[in-house]
Amino acid sequence: MIALNSPLKPDLKKLHRYLEKINQRGWFTNFGPLHNELTEKLEEYLGVQNLLLVANGTIALQLAGRALGVDNIVTTPFSFVATAGAFRWQKDTLSFTDIERKSYNLCPDAANSAIKQYSSLNAILATHVYGNPCDVDQFETLSNKNNVRVIYDAAHTFGVKVSDKSVLNYGDASALSFHATKVFNTVEGGAVVFREKSHYDKARHMINFGIDPGNGIVETGINGKLSEYHAAVGLVNLERMDNVLEHRAALFELYRSGLKDIVELPEWHSKATLNGAYMPIKMRSSEKAKQLINKLADNNIQSRAYFSPALNSVFTDCISYGTPNSDEVVDGILCLPLHIDMAKEDVITVIENIKKSGAL
Ligand SMILES: *Cc1c(COP(=O)(O)O)cnc(C)c1O
Repeated sequence: MIALNSPLKPDLKKLHRYLEKINQRGWFTNFGPLHNELTEKLEEYLGVQNLLLVANGTIALQLAGRALGVDNIVTTPFSFVATAGAFRWQKDTLSFTDIERKSYNLCPDAANSAIKQYSSLNAILATHVYGNPCDVDQFETLSNKNNVRVIYDAAHTFGVKVSDKSVLNYGDASALSFHATKVFNTVEGGAVVFREKSHYDKARHMINFGIDPGNGIVETGINGKLSEYHAAVGLVNLERMDNVLEHRAALFELYRSGLKDIVELPEWHSKATLNGAYMPIKMRSSEKAKQLINKLADNNIQSRAYFSPALNSVFTDCISYGTPNSDEVVDGILCLPLHIDMAKEDVITVIENIKKSGAL
């Protein structure tokens, strides 16, 4: 079977050495030495500052909003459910506007007109869908002109650069997920990268029940810390990331060259590097997409309609400013198998099966 995904598995010998040290120290969580080592190594690897490790990508999003002090957010209907659910869970006001037809990322012009219509909006939340960076320059202009914050859901963009600079250096905060299904994982885990140190400091207290050591309780907080055991998995996996990114990007490019003339592919940011996080394709209709998923399944190839349904159809109590592009594409898109345990031959097998599926 060719699986849709398969987690990056830590080398057990290396992991064991870390775990032994954790037990010897008896320091299991609360900003321990491995947590600090992983923080430093990730900041260096990704080329960022003010990176705060957290328990998962969902709390990373919630924390970004809370640390920036925003609660009225315009976002994309085309993302994983956590993008919107994280904020609705904490009773923030959320509204949806449209995506760009070609990249499937949140459209800056649509966000701009939402801001014009609705003056109490204080943040834009955009997902770099499938690891493809949003139009970060346009969002920066919008943010400066209108005094709104920009939060990126960067769960798919580990290791991606735009014009030689980490995509995580755009916006006021970027939320990462290190869930098992992601390009880099700590089993469960995540991080927020803040532009400003003051937001980082605030968030660091917030994930520790609001406690500022030495200063008492300075915020309303929650528990969002990453444990030493999870950090150990991250340290072991991080050693392999150059190879992982290279291999995934090669599979992604092989898929794209084999499929570009037969299905619609999202238009990629022209200055971005590739991390091969996902392999999305768009079929002519939802029926064709379903047909292809079933045909591939008959031949032991997993694929999935991702993302579906659109989030404005899930969170129906939120304002929607009109989402024709999202409505048009949402049911036709599916993701093909792409993970570290796949070989180039597997990609060729999938492409051949698509060609003979009868769903084109
Ligand atoms: C995985 C994911 C999340 C949630 O991250 P968790 O670590 O699973 O909580 C949020 N947004 C997007 C786009 C994701 O893919």
